[in-house]
Amino acid sequence: MNILVINAGSSSLKYQLLDPETGKLLAKGLCERIGIDGRLNHQVPGADKRVFDIPMPTHAEAIQSVIDALLSPEYGVISSVHEIDAVGHRVVHGAESFADSALITDEMLSVVEACNPLAPLHNPANIIGINACTAVLGKNVPQVAVFDTAFHQTMPPVAYLYALPYEFYEKDKVRRYGFHGTSHRYVSQRAAAMLGRPLEELKLITCHLGNGSSIAAVKYGKSVDTSMGFTPLAGVPMGTRCGDIDAGILEYLMNKYGYNIDEMLDILNKKSGVLGISQLSSDFRDLDTGIEQGNEKAALAKNVFMYSVKKYIGAYAAAMGGVDAVVFTAGVGENGPDLRETITDGLEFLGIKLDKEKNNCRGQEIDVSAADATVHTLVIPTNEELMIAMDTAAVVEGLKK
Ligand code: AMP
Repeated sequence: MNILVINAGSSSLKYQLLDPETGKLLAKGLCERIGIDGRLNHQVPGADKRVFDIPMPTHAEAIQSVIDALLSPEYGVISSVHEIDAVGHRVVHGAESFADSALITDEMLSVVEACNPLAPLHNPANIIGINACTAVLGKNVPQVAVFDTAFHQTMPPVAYLYALPYEFYEKDKVRRYGFHGTSHRYVSQRAAAMLGRPLEELKLITCHLGNGSSIAAVKYGKSVDTSMGFTPLAGVPMGTRCGDIDAGILEYLMNKYGYNIDEMLDILNKKSGVLGISQLSSDFRDLDTGIEQGNEKAALAKNVFMYSVKKYIGAYAAAMGGVDAVVFTAGVGENGPDLRETITDGLEFLGIKLDKEKNNCRGQEIDVSAADATVHTLVIPTNEELMIAMDTAAVVEGLKK
């Protein structure tokens, strides 16, 4: 089975063609500058990356260029469009309407559209990507939406309710939703496989630490709490997002500097996090270079980030009444041995202890805990595209039953 996985943004679109059973990646790429001019980056594993300038006035031309690349006799990987069995779309927000991945129909799309106000930058672009696929592939190729929020729909009210007047939840659906759900779910499943134990028996803390970061408490296979909130702005500090801050700061700064709400949100989303503190970069590799050169603000930014992650690990161990494994994933989590060491340092009282030699690794699936640790520490490269492909296959197989 071949599943085309699409992650559509407002002016870009990432794709992968995958076999969900074997996990084999057939091809991947990126359409950029949609609506401006258009560029396709296409790559087949083991071959050189190809870059083409192709006019892409809309997402439909972008999808058409992806299909053409996949079918190309020279650098393609399939010989007929019928070899694409289904399309899986990353959709950011499913609100309380979607606790699982779902087959895309006209009716279903209107429910997704109703979630747009909760993710105004992302959901409309995801829907444009879906409509573009329908325009190019027709309605005979099944399409499935896989939501970033769905995995966290199992959170209990104590975890998702904000202490605001209740009508804001009832009427306006203001609550914690959480994001990165596809990644947290994927690494939870891999953790269970690595430990050789059923997911339904495990208490896991999954740390997705990338440019955007979130932590999740996954108890017996279900998300019971997560650090991102109503929007992805909450939780630990990130590349450019502030994470948890006192809401009173907004009023203080807006009054003092005359910022309007858009300017304030721009600061919180794009100029804060480790970029804000370091005044150097949002990229942890740049911070490391800065730290090597004695840049104290870079060191402070990384320390603030790591301290925050450590606190969430403690909080979620308390929330679940224990923990069997802590999982590190995404760019920083997979590639930062020193960061994993600092975050877990001092957590021996919980049973968390690293084997420093094993931990000296990057981007591989490995148990890095010390022999006498009672809690496992796992490094697991995330693979959201594979999870989307697996879900898409499961939904499509379900249709046949
Ligand atoms: P992501 O959002 O998962 O792509 O992660 C991006 C973040 O991961 C950036 O801050 C990168 O600096 C960081 N990152 C990626 N690769 C490495 C690496 N080899 N060493 C340290 N950090 C890395």
